[in-house]
Amino acid sequence: MKSMKRVFLFALGCLPCTFLLAQEAPLQMKMDFEEYDPPSTLVVEEHRLTHAKFPFIDIHNHQGNMNTADLSDLVKEMDRLNMKVMNNLSGYGFRGGSDHLEKSLENIKKQFPDRFILFSNIDFSGIDDPQWTAGTVAQIERDVKQGAKGLKIYKSLGMFSKDKKGNRIHIDDPRIDPVWEKCGALGIPVLIHAADPKPFWQPIDKNNERWLELKLHPGRRHDTDPVRWETLIEEQHAMFRKHPKTKFINAHLGWYGNDLRKLGQLMDELPNMYTEIGAVIAELGRQPRAAKAFLTKYQDRVLFGKDSWVPEEYETYFRVLETEDEYFPYHKRYHAFWRMYGIGLPDDILKKIYYKNALTILPGMEKSLFPK
Ligand SMILES: [Zn+2]
Repeated sequence: MKSMKRVFLFALGCLPCTFLLAQEAPLQMKMDFEEYDPPSTLVVEEHRLTHAKFPFIDIHNHQGNMNTADLSDLVKEMDRLNMKVMNNLSGYGFRGGSDHLEKSLENIKKQFPDRFILFSNIDFSGIDDPQWTAGTVAQIERDVKQGAKGLKIYKSLGMFSKDKKGNRIHIDDPRIDPVWEKCGALGIPVLIHAADPKPFWQPIDKNNERWLELKLHPGRRHDTDPVRWETLIEEQHAMFRKHPKTKFINAHLGWYGNDLRKLGQLMDELPNMYTEIGAVIAELGRQPRAAKAFLTKYQDRVLFGKDSWVPEEYETYFRVLETEDEYFPYHKRYHAFWRMYGIGLPDDILKKIYYKNALTILPGMEKSLFPK
């Protein structure tokens, strides 16, 4: 007993030593942010998923050569992931000619008619032409008749597309109104990517969450653009509001994945707005509780998408959506220097996000390929 007391007193007596130690000069070392990426020492259960629990539809994919490609290798990779249907948003290819969509539809029909769908694309460069609106509407009618299941709008609208006078074409430009209306009348959704992540408009400094991405891809910088991020986003929402009978899939969680309360307000205000999770799973994976609440509340209007075709990256998506794993790595450090937490969605919600919602909003889909 006596000796215990002595030890205790000794420890107390030593507190000033601890204080002195804290005053010790730190080592003269610098560590680069890009270099510092220690392997985690955390030992917890891990569930690596290379295959989704249910067959899924990837609503946000891009393939450039579907007009001529042998699609069998692609299908093999899709099977490994359990991807039942791939939606190629680049219906007209990356630099495709006017018959690219038609040829791609033919090629798909010949090889794997159930495994691929295409969205149409339109060209804004001729918008000053008085015939542009009617011609574009006619093109969409024709494309849908041939088999296109939707329209994809690239971020160039609002950001890069200019009219003859060099003025930026606004996303809610009234000359495009009949196009959106036509999509509504034809019952096809419009998947639209407007602007880019907000940090791309912010100074590249220690306060910017996408600092590394902007350093590696300086072409993505918009910090000196005359048009603000907010302006582009507001134009997009104004356009959604103006066309309530058209279904819009706001790509990449509408760039509000980091503010699900705001995204929820938009979902409430705009019942014709849907969204998808392509390239933004790291936003959901850093807030599993808020993400679960959001995906539960809006389970009928969120679709599965990935965007860039890198098969091994799908694992992060499956793991965030399906498991309750903790503190696991994301696949691309320049998107997220933070780690992921699984949301652990129940099967009924998973099925909606993986395929049911897409089956509902895409016209003429073969539902028998999917579980009930
Ligand atoms: Zn995309």
